[in-house]
Order: sequence, then C-alpha cells, then structure tokens
Amino acid sequence: IDTQGNVTFKRLPITQLVEALQLGIQYTVGGLQAKAAHDVLYQDFLTVEIIHFPREGTKTTPAHRFNDFTIRSYAPVAFRHFRELFNIRPDEFLYSICKPLRELKNPGASGSLFYLTSDDEFILKTVQKKEAEFLKCLLPGYYMNVTQNPRTLLPKFFGLYCYQVSGFMQINSHIGIGDNKNIRITVMNNLIPSHVYMHEKYDLKGSTYKRRANSEERRKESPTWKDLDFMERHPDGLLLDIETYNALAKTVQRDCRVLESFRIMDYSFLIGVHHVDVPTDSGGDRATVNLMLTPNEPTTVQPKRMMYSTPMDTIQVEFDEHNKPDDHLVKTGGIPARTARGQRLLLYVGIIDILQSYQIRKKLEHTFKSVLTDGTQISVTNPSFYSERFQKFLFTTVFKKAPPLRESPVKRRS
Ligand code: ATP
Ligand code: CA
Ligand code: CA
Repeated sequence: IDTQGNVTFKRLPITQLVEALQLGIQYTVGGLQAKAAHDVLYQDFLTVEIIHFPREGTKTTPAHRFNDFTIRSYAPVAFRHFRELFNIRPDEFLYSICKPLRELKNPGASGSLFYLTSDDEFILKTVQKKEAEFLKCLLPGYYMNVTQNPRTLLPKFFGLYCYQVSGFMQINSHIGIGDNKNIRITVMNNLIPSHVYMHEKYDLKGSTYKRRANSEERRKESPTWKDLDFMERHPDGLLLDIETYNALAKTVQRDCRVLESFRIMDYSFLIGVHHVDVPTDSGGDRATVNLMLTPNEPTTVQPKRMMYSTPMDTIQVEFDEHNKPDDHLVKTGGIPARTARGQRLLLYVGIIDILQSYQIRKKLEHTFKSVLTDGTQISVTNPSFYSERFQKFLFTTVFKKAPPLRESPVKRRS
C-alpha cells in the first residue's frame, strides 16, 4: 500500500499491471490468429515477442492512460498449442483474460500476486525471475509430457509474460535486487472452483518440518492448512473408493515421475474440501452454493470449457454401475470422498508451485538445516526423496482406501 492508499506491487499500481497485461495478451494472442497454425518447432519455445505500448498508441497498439510499457510474450506459438491441447480457443482465452480479474488474497509466503479470471478457468500468478527462467527451460520437456498425457494434475501453463514499464518507474529500482521493473506472470489452470464452498483447504508436502499454518494464516476467513494441521484435523485420513484411490495414486505417481525427471521439488498437493452435508456458512459469499441443498436444480456448476480440467476428468475413475456417486455430485467434477465418520466430501486437487527447481542453494539449505533437526523431515532434500515422501504421505496418511460397501440397496433408496 503506497502513501496515497493505492495497492502496489514493486511500487506499481496493481490496476495498471493488470490492465497493461490484458492489453498485451490481447495483442499477442490476437495477433496469433492471423498466423497460420503449424506444428510446433523447437525454435518456437525460444521465441520472445516484444510489444511496445507507448501511451499515445501506434498503428497497431491502442493509446492508454499509463506510462509507456513493454510486454514480452514468451513462446507464443508453443503456448497456443498448449491451449489447443486443452481445447481453449483463442477468442475464449482472450474473453477470459480480458474481463475484470479477481485478486485472490495472497495465500503464499513468496509475495506473489494471484488473479482469478471471472469465468473461474485461469489463475494469473506473478513469479520470480528465476522461476520464469526455469519455466522457459522446462517448456520443451513439459510440452512433450503434456502431449503424451494431458490427464495430469501438474499445473498447466497457458502463457508466460513479462511486463516492463518505461519512464519514471525505473527510478524505483532501488527497492529490489536487480531488475525489479520487470514483472513476470504465468497463466495457469484454476484448481478451486469459486462457486463451490470450500470448508477446508490444505497445502501438503509430505514433510512435517514447520508444516503448520502460521497465526496470520489461521486468522484468515478460509485458511490454507498444512501437513501437521491435516494430521490433527483428519487423524484417520480421507476415505476414497478403491477405484478412486488407485486412479488418483496412479495419476500422482505419473506426475511425480515427470517432476523428478526435471529435478523439481518443494511442490505441494493442494486439496480443497467441500462438505456435502454441512450447510454453507450463510453469512458468507452468496455466490457459493451448498451442493446438497440444490440437488434437483439443473446445476449451478458451470461446465468447464477447458478439457481435463476437473479432478475427476483427470484421474479417470471407472465406477461400478452400483457404486456410482449421485449424479449432481458427479457433475461438480470433484472427487467423492468420505471422512472416517462417514461425512460425504468432494475434493478438488492438484499439484502446485513446481517452478522452484532443485539448486545448489537448496543443497546448502539442507546441510544447514540438518544440523538443527532430523534430516529426513526437512522439506528441502533431493528430488527423488521428495517425490517418494510426498506420495507416501498422500497415499498412507491423507488418502485411505474405504472399506468396500457390502451392498448398495440402502444407498440406492436415498
Ligand atoms: P510459497 O512459495 O510461499 O509457498 P507461492 O506464492 O509460490 O507461495 P503457491 O504455493 O503457488 O504460492 O500457492 C499459494 C496458494 O495459492 C495455495 O496454497 C493455494 O491456496 C493457492 N493456489 C495456488 N495455485 C493455485 C491454483 N492453480 N488453483 C487454485 N488455487 C491455487
Ligand atoms: Ca508453495
Ligand atoms: Ca513458490
């Protein structure tokens, strides 16, 4: 917050960042439509489109009320293919991005900004320079993996942009280290639908070292809890049907193999928990619905345009005919689950924050922290250890196989 009471990021008014970015994306994505579609070449991963936006406008860029700025659009052609893979048409993408965005209360410690598109499909996240550089290196390999397996819980990246402001903003460059006049933003899929009320939210790593939501987080209206909080609140874990459990475990295993191959660690498993039978806090947001209370309505849940975007589409569970969850629950795309006490749940899940790569800096951190505590419990160790511990935690402590339901007549009558 600056002296005039405006919200700023790197001393830049936030609205300026968002609007400038929207102009930039409009230009670069719109411009692509003129270019014929062709196969992605290796060079397409290295391309950077640089677009200058002088305040007074040019033949191809509109006039605007901000200082001159520049938008860099990384690998535009490759990202167009990522979007096509998930059935996102250019006009739909522009429509999503250019409608007013909703800022999410900064949930991470990194200071990143998060914006949600009004149709709930995309999240825009500011990332550090190192993370953006890493994503650029990752793109060809990532492309190969997503093409082979679009049913993934890994974050799907649909764009990477850099906003650079010219003129007087540069004098503020003393605040950060190096080039703080650049703001890098990724566009990703949103995992948590905003029209379904999340009674609980967890960010899990499989580590117990310092993995408890801090007091600031706890005071929030909907805190993101961590590993130790989960173990306290769900000592018996979350129960999944055997088919669901196996499908989820298989998907996570496949994704972790990819992360390991890139030597990535420190990622989290995000779980949003909706309690089907608990009334939604009535004082809260009217836009969120309690699904149990509206089973007969056509469905307030908008169908997603993006393919493989719900967790159920991603993990591909084949239900037995007699073991199918209720239709209105299936439509939400959430994963049906139960607590040990039999309360019905819907889970929204995905792997997040994968751009912090395993680096020498991390190695140092490890040896340093090991002195202080048991080495196996630190969240910064090597990638295969990290991945193994992550999966072990998820599929022994967090998710458990529900005992098979003997017979279904009772359930079917309800
Ligand atoms: P840090 O590095 O301090 O952990 P960060 O700023 O990198 O934080 P993330 O870990 O990526 O942030 O995300 C922080 C929180 O934002 C998550 O716990 C989750 O609540 C929310 N979030 C992140 N990515 C998504 C997503 N794709 N969909 C929905 N919510 C998300
Ligand atoms: Ca994180
Ligand atoms: Ca992070």
